[in-house]
Amino acid sequence: MFVVGIVSLLVTSPVFSQDSVQSPDGLFDFHVDPWVSLHHFAYHYVREEERLLKLRGRVPLTEDDRRLITDEFRAVCAPLTVAYRPYIERSLLFDANTRALTKALKWGPSGVLDDDVRKALEACMPAYRETFWPRHKEAGVRLREHLLRQLKLYETRMADRFARMLEGSWPGVPIRVDLTPYANWAGAYTDDSPPHISISSLDNEFSGRFAFEILFHESGHTGSFAQSLLRAANAALEATALENERFWHYVLFHVSGVATADAIGDSTYVPFANAVGLAQTEDAEAYYRALEETWDAGGTFSDRVLRAAQKVRDNE
Ligand SMILES: [Zn+2]
Repeated sequence: MFVVGIVSLLVTSPVFSQDSVQSPDGLFDFHVDPWVSLHHFAYHYVREEERLLKLRGRVPLTEDDRRLITDEFRAVCAPLTVAYRPYIERSLLFDANTRALTKALKWGPSGVLDDDVRKALEACMPAYRETFWPRHKEAGVRLREHLLRQLKLYETRMADRFARMLEGSWPGVPIRVDLTPYANWAGAYTDDSPPHISISSLDNEFSGRFAFEILFHESGHTGSFAQSLLRAANAALEATALENERFWHYVLFHVSGVATADAIGDSTYVPFANAVGLAQTEDAEAYYRALEETWDAGGTFSDRVLRAAQKVRDNE
């Protein structure tokens, strides 16, 4: 493990130093960051305060966090509810303006262009640090330690298998991974410009080996991996005249699951998509089954993806 420690030149806030920990092989740079965490917390907190029924987090605010929302906190952090109002009905991943907040906050509040958001976050930070941050930080560090233990054992093997299967390559610099209390509705999401992964540390579904698989799954949303997936899936759909805009994502789940089972040397491993039911939904089931049945016949990545699509078409 390589501890970078204090990156004082990049710290724009006097309140916190920024620490990061690299994975043993240097593929990932893990952050448990108060500004990124407060931002994600604020997004979900304001959604709850505004009584929006459709929560954007698979993990809504936890009971522990709800209990800590006092009148005093509400008063101090009231500017958040105004500042975040334009953002809370937008996606953390697909809306460029919302994504820009996360991008800027990786380096503290000073780069946030929306003055209202920046001031609201700065005004709320002391109260957040006092009440929520100790638990949020603890959850992030716990997930980081958990991931580092598995990466120490399997990072090299997994990285190799993952890149080989997808016929892509790892970027030359570590991918920044923020372990935040809350992420988006899926529990984890990835911005590819530049590569940046956010994973919810309070999401129980990302415990055990799933955290490891999800980390690599999210990496598949970056750079050459993402391109390779889209290219192979689109070519296969075109060749088979099938329509399914999520096929590339099923392939990514399949590859992440197969590579994980292989890297950890456990043929009984049940991949995340199968374990939580994503592989059994109506649109997805035939594709996942075809991928499982045809994958081991070998060939290039495109061959395997095409063969799965042909199997789906033949079964229709
Ligand atoms: Zn994904």
